Amino acid sequence: VSKEKGTIVLIEDRCKGCGLCASVCPSQHIQLSRSVNSQGINVAICDQNKKCTGCTFCAMICPDVAIEVYKDKIASKS
Ligand code: SF4
Ligand code: SF4
Repeated sequence: VSKEKGTIVLIEDRCKGCGLCASVCPSQHIQLSRSVNSQGINVAICDQNKKCTGCTFCAMICPDVAIEVYKDKIASKS
């Protein structure tokens, strides 16, 4: 049995803080930052306590193409 796991890269310069990615992420891996960046935007950030499954929903919904998803297939230990 293999389980999909993903990693995302947020391109902060492109993010306008709309929150769509956070709203579609099934594992709540993405949230909006509580503090603003140098441009006054609450950019999307990753919650490292929550696992990304590599589903790519966030990348598909982002209107500004600010997210890249990389998938890894990891064989489960059991
Ligand atoms: S790829 Fe899926 S699980 Fe990973 S951060 Fe994006 S929406 Fe969430
Ligand atoms: S959907 Fe894109 S622009 Fe909107 S908060 Fe997420 S990364 Fe930023």
